[in-house]
Amino acid sequence: MNEYDSNRIYDLASIIGFDKTDTKKEADCFVLNTCHIREKATEKVYHEIGRLKKLFRDSKKPLVIVSGCVAQAESQEMVKREPYIDMIVGPQSYHKITDMILSYQRKRNKLNETEFDVINKFDQLENIYNSQNKISSYLTIQEGCDKFCNFCVVPYTRGPEYSRPYKQIINEAKQLVHNGVKEIILLGQNVNAYNFLNNKKIFKLSSLIRELNKIKDLKRIRYMTSHPKDMTNDLINCYKDCEKLMPFLHLPIQSGSDRMLKLMNRKHDKKYYLSVIEKLKSINKDIKFSSDFIIGYPEETEEDFQETIELIKKVEFFNSYSYIFSPRSGTPAAEKQLNNLEESKKRLKKVQDIIGNFQIKNNKKFVQKYCEVLIENKLDGKDQYFGRTQFMTPVIFQSNNCKLGELVNVKITFFSQNNLFGVHYRNKAQAA
Ligand code: SF4
Repeated sequence: MNEYDSNRIYDLASIIGFDKTDTKKEADCFVLNTCHIREKATEKVYHEIGRLKKLFRDSKKPLVIVSGCVAQAESQEMVKREPYIDMIVGPQSYHKITDMILSYQRKRNKLNETEFDVINKFDQLENIYNSQNKISSYLTIQEGCDKFCNFCVVPYTRGPEYSRPYKQIINEAKQLVHNGVKEIILLGQNVNAYNFLNNKKIFKLSSLIRELNKIKDLKRIRYMTSHPKDMTNDLINCYKDCEKLMPFLHLPIQSGSDRMLKLMNRKHDKKYYLSVIEKLKSINKDIKFSSDFIIGYPEETEEDFQETIELIKKVEFFNSYSYIFSPRSGTPAAEKQLNNLEESKKRLKKVQDIIGNFQIKNNKKFVQKYCEVLIENKLDGKDQYFGRTQFMTPVIFQSNNCKLGELVNVKITFFSQNNLFGVHYRNKAQAA
């Protein structure tokens, strides 16, 4: 979501004459768009500012803006601790950034804007051209969360659930496709909780997917991140009817132990999660899954951990993200006693080894087969391209005749844990 927000911040700043530069020393203004989910996010902001101070020691100080969830969570403290920061802008207020910059240029007063003003934000962004023209683009449809998992800062930094107006999203999607975008990834902290009421009609994530599926030049649709509780039948059925919806779902569970799920306040249990997986597989047997796992959550026992291992083996996740629990201040879990770190590290290694072995096993299955790849980039100075399979696996392949944004069949010749490698043949005679 921060990538989407960063692009929109750029769209806004460009209206008042700012342009991107790759040369740091040339910049008049830095926007550090932060993510509080990342470990040590706050410290990373101060380190980056330290680097800027050094770079500009002998020249005019640039305007320094901290935006995003760290700005929201720690606004007062940041301004006190680091006078080099000129402005703080929360994730629901960044549409005000142009006025803030102009005001700062006139009065040089420090500014702090961390209101939850999400409706105005999207209303204003609707009138500003989305200049994103990558092959694969994010599109925010929903923000915030009402679920309050005990470890998570999102309900505090992004606020309550808000769904953007349906028409606004469809118009932005069409604009992106007009810019050359071929894949849209619908985004939300709780994306499948999308729910927009207009003239007594309810629009859900499934309504958006079905409408996007009709856009002629759009080739792929994805969405993230989903909560198992909101995997409703109308959404599950999209995997049967919408050929552009990719058969790959990131569905976080966090733990395989019901006791831990309860302590985390996840509002679902393992049985329910597995029933969703089964329903999806019965609709589309090719669908693959990834998930998130928190290891060493407060009070996790060896028994709880073993249940997580069993679940991973049962589902055979295509890939997954796993982390050792780290407390976020202001959340209920931050009050709990931490588990033994060395033990948690050992558990994390076990989980990552198992997930890694599944990745290797899955990638191996593609060797000597053809994979459909959406081409996203050409590698510098070579006849080599980068794209992704339907399951998001990165593919690097040789071709002497293909275009960015094309869907091509690549013959896979080699694999690693994270990547596939292959060759694209334009005609069958070459391939033979
Ligand atoms: S559902 Fe997701 S975003 Fe919401 S509180 Fe839980 S982890 Fe955070």
